[in-house]
Amino acid sequence: MDIHEYQAKEILAKFGVEVPPGALAYSPEQATYRARELGGERWVVKAQVHAGGRGKAGGVKVCDSDAEIQETCEQLFGRNLVTHQTDAEGKGIYRVYVEGAVPIEREFYLGFVLDRQTQRVMIVASGEGGTEIEDISANSPDSIVRAIVEPAVGLQDFQCRQIAFKLGIDPSLTQHVVRTMQGCYRAFREHDATMVEINPMVVTSDKRVLALDAKMTFDDNALFRHPQISELRDKSQEDPRESRAADSGLSYVGLDGNIGCIVNGAGLAMATMDTIKLAGGEPANFLDIGGGATPDRVAKAFRLVMSDKNVQAVLVNIFAGINRCDWVAEGVVQALKEVRVDVPVIVRLAGTNVEEGQKILAKSGLPIIRANTLMEAAERAVGAWQNDLSQNTVVRAAQ
Ligand code: GDP
Ligand code: MN
Repeated sequence: MDIHEYQAKEILAKFGVEVPPGALAYSPEQATYRARELGGERWVVKAQVHAGGRGKAGGVKVCDSDAEIQETCEQLFGRNLVTHQTDAEGKGIYRVYVEGAVPIEREFYLGFVLDRQTQRVMIVASGEGGTEIEDISANSPDSIVRAIVEPAVGLQDFQCRQIAFKLGIDPSLTQHVVRTMQGCYRAFREHDATMVEINPMVVTSDKRVLALDAKMTFDDNALFRHPQISELRDKSQEDPRESRAADSGLSYVGLDGNIGCIVNGAGLAMATMDTIKLAGGEPANFLDIGGGATPDRVAKAFRLVMSDKNVQAVLVNIFAGINRCDWVAEGVVQALKEVRVDVPVIVRLAGTNVEEGQKILAKSGLPIIRANTLMEAAERAVGAWQNDLSQNTVVRAAQ
């Protein structure tokens, strides 16, 4: 789960990371009012969306007056911000954060991520701050400094000092850099984060070390033990298909293709997507309905897959190990009676009670295309969509 910049800054500040003074606003009037409360003569108005690259996309603007703040906010509120990290539609702007502007001397990149190879928290830092890490690693890979944290002892001050030294930070500021890094690391650990990114961390001309931007991502599987983090969830920033799936307890990832997938098991779901591609098609989603595919879950899955307007065929691929094919077939039949599905449906069943399952599908009289192997199912799904088969042809093919 992602949170907004202002929320991440609030968390990090509690752990000793220094951030500029700032205030949240839900309207242009509120933004100017809050800027006046903050005081000062220059402010930075920042669109709060769950995506980086806002600066280049016009979502971060330095303002010198009330009028400028008002004007900037009028342009931002209600609009969608499209950055290189969003899709073409972008993310809706419903909140802006107003910060007192600071005089920047140097910008750095500071990130904490989970490194799968070493199975440790890894610190990634660079003197090329302000730019996205992908660009830094492509354009100046040598500027990247890395360190691994040993979980038994935690992040050590000497590691932070080493990084500060390698980044060429003024030695008089080392202790501030250590405090910033330690704060990020503790915030990361204590909230089961998977990522903390400060980009840029800056040294100001009056020699302070500040987090000018902040991003935190949390492990969804650990959210149950962080109710105060769950509260920060902002559904306006999520793919509506994925929010609905999360609320139904299904793991769904929306994709750009047109063949909807309903599969039990994450591995099988991946294999199904691969096979659809091999057959020349594009999957519309990843969807794992889990082991115990009850009729109710199958119906929810159909509803979810069909809510994607791009879907032109649905492939149901079930391998029943613990589950039973007849039970799943009942679910498919029930779902197709409850949910309006006006595209070809291809069902491949394998495993326990497969014959009974096939009989149930055949007897239902529903226009279901059956397949015995995954490859056959994928080819039929791609074929069904490519030929743009009408319901009638689908019925004939099923018989
Ligand atoms: P991002 O583009 O979504 O990563 O948004 P950032 O919060 O990182 O802002 C983009 C850029 O705006 C930063 O890299 C800074 O160069 C600039 N910026 C942000 N806040 C300030 C500020 O207080 N003063 C000045 N001068 N520049 C700022
Ligand atoms: Mn940034």
